[in-house]
Amino acid sequence: MNPKARIAVTGCVVEKDADIISKIDGVTDIIKNCDKEKLLSLITGQASVTSNNITNFKGHTKAFVKVQDGCNNFCSFCKVPLVRGRSKSRPIDEIKKEVALLLDAGFKEIVLSGICLGEWGRDFKKTLELTDLIEGIDNLSKDFRIRLSSIELRYITQRLIKKIATSNKLCKHLHIPLQSGDDSILKKMNRPYTRDEFLKKIKEIRTSIPHIGITTDALVGFPGEEEVHFNATLALLKECKVHRIHAFSYSQREGTKAAALKRTVPDSIVRDRVDTLIRLSSELSYEYRKEFLDKEVEVLVESKRDKKTQLLTGYTDTYIRVLLEGDDSLMGSLYRCNISDVTLDSTLAKA
Ligand code: SF4
Repeated sequence: MNPKARIAVTGCVVEKDADIISKIDGVTDIIKNCDKEKLLSLITGQASVTSNNITNFKGHTKAFVKVQDGCNNFCSFCKVPLVRGRSKSRPIDEIKKEVALLLDAGFKEIVLSGICLGEWGRDFKKTLELTDLIEGIDNLSKDFRIRLSSIELRYITQRLIKKIATSNKLCKHLHIPLQSGDDSILKKMNRPYTRDEFLKKIKEIRTSIPHIGITTDALVGFPGEEEVHFNATLALLKECKVHRIHAFSYSQREGTKAAALKRTVPDSIVRDRVDTLIRLSSELSYEYRKEFLDKEVEVLVESKRDKKTQLLTGYTDTYIRVLLEGDDSLMGSLYRCNISDVTLDSTLAKA
C-alpha cells in the first residue's frame, strides 16, 4: 500500500537467520535483537524518541519494566540462551528512574519482567539479587504494587520469601515454571531441580505466605514423555495447588540439545494432555478462589470492562480475576472489595 515503506526485521530469529531474511523481497533493514530498542533511531538516524526509556505499557493500569535480558540456564528445549546470550541486568538507578516516571504517569502496578528475572543483579561486579531491586523501589512513597513476572525455582530465596510475606507493595503471587513433574523428564530437560525439591519449596512458600497465588507453566510432549510421566506432572500440580497452569506443547527448536532427541509423543496425545491440563487448571483455580469467599481483597480495576458482562474487572494481588459493579471512575484504582460469589467461571466482588 505504501511503496516507500521500509520494512525492518528484528527479534531472536534475526540473530541466526539474518542472511535468509535479508533475501526476502521488501526487507530493507535488519536490526540485531540486542539493538531493537534503538530501532527507530537506527532507521531514522535521529536520537531515540523513547528517551524516558519506558519499556512497555499494558492498558492504563499496569506497566511492564524489563530489568534484564538473556539467560544463563540451558534448558535443553529452549533456544533463548542461544539467541539472546548470557544474562545482562539493567542498572538499579535506571530502573528506579523508569519506575518513578511510570508512577508519576499514574500506573498502579509495576510488573518486573525479564527473560530470566531471578538472574537480575548477579552479573554486577558487586553482586546483587532481585530482593535488592525490590527494596530499591518499594520504598517509593506511592500507592502502587509490584508484581514479579515468571521466576525460576532456584531464585526463590529465603530472603525473597520473607520480603513477599512482609511487604505491603509486593504482590502475593509467584509464577514458577514447573515444566514436568517427573524426575527423568526434568533431567532430560536440564531443569535444575527434582519433583521433591519443587514440592518442598512450594510448601516452604505456603508456610510463610498461606494464601499466596502460585501459577505455573507445564510443557507437554517432550521426547520420551510417557503416560506415567504425564501423570506424575498432574499429581504434582494437584499437590502444589497451583491456581493457573499455562500448558504448552513441545516444539523442536533447531540448535538445542533436545532437537537431537526423537519426537515420541503423537500430536493427538499432546493435544489430549494439554486439554487435561487446561481442565485441571480450571478445577484448581475454582478451589483456590473459594478460599477468598467473603474475604476482603484489593483489586486493580482495569480500564476496560469485561466484554461479556460489562462489569468492571481487575486482578487481586494473588492473581485472581474479579468482576465487580461500579462506575468508570474506579478504573485505574486499587479498590478494596469483598468476594461475594465464586463460580467455576468467575469471581464476583462487592464494595
Ligand atoms: S526455559 Fe527459561 S530458564 Fe530455561 S533456558 Fe529458557 S529462558 Fe532460560
